[in-house]
Amino acid sequence: MSFASQNFSPEIVKALTECGYEKLTPVQQKAIPFARRGHDILANAQTGTGKTAAFALPIIQNILDNAKPQQRRQARAVILAPTRELAAQIAANIQDYTKYTAVKTIAIYGGTKMSSQEKVLDSGVDILVATPGRLIEHMDLNNVSLVNLEFLVFDEADRMLDMGFINAIESIMAGVATKPQTMLFSATFSAQMNTLAGKILRQPKRVSVARENVTADTIAHVVYPVEQERKRELLSELIGRKNWQQVLVFVNYKETANELVKELKLDGIKAVLCHGDKAQSARRRALDEFKSGKARVMIATDVAARGLDIQNLPHVVNFDMPFLAEDYVHRIGRTGRAGQRGNAVSFVNRDEELTLQQVETLIGQRIYRKELEGYEPKNRAALLEKMHSKPAFKNRRTRQNNPSDSNQGDAERRSRLRRMIRAKK
Ligand code: AMP
Repeated sequence: MSFASQNFSPEIVKALTECGYEKLTPVQQKAIPFARRGHDILANAQTGTGKTAAFALPIIQNILDNAKPQQRRQARAVILAPTRELAAQIAANIQDYTKYTAVKTIAIYGGTKMSSQEKVLDSGVDILVATPGRLIEHMDLNNVSLVNLEFLVFDEADRMLDMGFINAIESIMAGVATKPQTMLFSATFSAQMNTLAGKILRQPKRVSVARENVTADTIAHVVYPVEQERKRELLSELIGRKNWQQVLVFVNYKETANELVKELKLDGIKAVLCHGDKAQSARRRALDEFKSGKARVMIATDVAARGLDIQNLPHVVNFDMPFLAEDYVHRIGRTGRAGQRGNAVSFVNRDEELTLQQVETLIGQRIYRKELEGYEPKNRAALLEKMHSKPAFKNRRTRQNNPSDSNQGDAERRSRLRRMIRAKK
């Protein structure tokens, strides 16, 4: 299905063609026709499916069809995103789609000056992409009002709830005086999410990308069973031996990221960091170096890397298995995007076998295990035997929450991990 056949304006179709978009992705095929007819939408879609265009294009087209001069301190559409990186990415995508139109889009998020954002808001915008906290700051200062809001999007809503934004969302909703067309996109659903959806959506059309598409089928998954203390060597060895040129490595702790950069440097491999302690500008610089090939490796934590759009990324490595099986899906969403081939490599120590099982259940596929001589963990066979025979292991469920990579989040994660390890002993 082509974009031209969806009655998008020639200016949009031209811009999409320049972005390399020819056909609609499945989530776009399902969501765009409903959104064009003005329905609220409740969509289950992961990163990498093309969800940004699925909600953005109908809004852009509607703004073009009902052109109005920009009103001071007002926005016609608000798109809420959990992280700065995702907000910046969404705004950049929309600016690409609207480059041949007069639609004005800005992103506002913490870590950058209020004053420069205030100036842009003062002259009015069509599409405002924001993190919840920063939007409230501007609303409280009367820099922006949502009294005339026409469109509202919650992107990666599960992550917003995980990060504790529920009160912020309620404050924002209190400032919305209209009944905007509202779309909620989320990779996972929980009771809290259903309550939120019930409050903010009116007779939503449900859109879901089928379970078998949870991870793109262009991704090759492989697991290396390995002792924790040999992981660093294994990473260097694989990068060198297989001559990987662009590798995104996920770790669970900022400390691991810092140590790993130093280790890789000793092996002559340039790596950059993307985690919560790094200033916004430093993260952007790291991403630029990684994208341009100046750095061969980027080491990231989950929250900091959320929503980063890196085209054609060939390799994603889970140096640590994520605490939540769902995060595996988010992480490897960076590779195998929009039809490109990708490799998802996971290092699994003894304590991470349980998460691996949960990941396999979630993605509905068994992952190929590759033992590399000299790196195999000891007593792994005995551990697997224990896991398969004890009901306590079999019946364990994937955890539902997922704190940010703030220090508090780290502490929570560590204590949860300790509990999990104790439970396995
Ligand atoms: P998203 O899920 O919105 O983060 O999109 C994932 C990636 O797919 C981004 O790099 C988009 O630019 C790209 N993309 C989105 N829609 C299409 C399409 N119809 N054809 C090709 N690439 C697309």
